[in-house]
Amino acid sequence: MNCDDAREKCQLLIDDELPEEEIAPLMGHIESCYKCRDEYISLLKLRKKLHGIKGPAPEEEWFEALYRNRGRKFAGGFGFTLLIASWLLLAGFALYSLFSDSGEGIFIKIVVAAAVVSVIVLFITALSDRIKESRTDKYKGVMK
Ligand SMILES: [Zn+2]
Repeated sequence: MNCDDAREKCQLLIDDELPEEEIAPLMGHIESCYKCRDEYISLLKLRKKLHGIKGPAPEEEWFEALYRNRGRKFAGGFGFTLLIASWLLLAGFALYSLFSDSGEGIFIKIVVAAAVVSVIVLFITALSDRIKESRTDKYKGVMK
């Protein structure tokens, strides 16, 4: 199911017009796609505002499962941070070893230093772009 299909079906679901056999595939897409989930939640809120009637909201377990995913996200972030920190320490150690043991020629030292510095510069650039992007992320408050 692509996002266009999902959004169309979200509206049908909100209006109680979606065939029952299509609800589970739609919910599967909504769980995995934050854009469609945002759309679905917006439609639910809109319907609630307009009619004062609850829409066909998913079961409570569905929301609980989304909250459980936050733990996975934290673990992923922790693992990523550990990976980057260990890589930086390893690169620093490699550079230190290369320049303290003068067994290698100056050309090799310059090439290895340039490679390490270029990866660090790329990492810092990507990280700063990611930080800027996260500040302007319009889906920031949406459950992932
Ligand atoms: Zn989608």
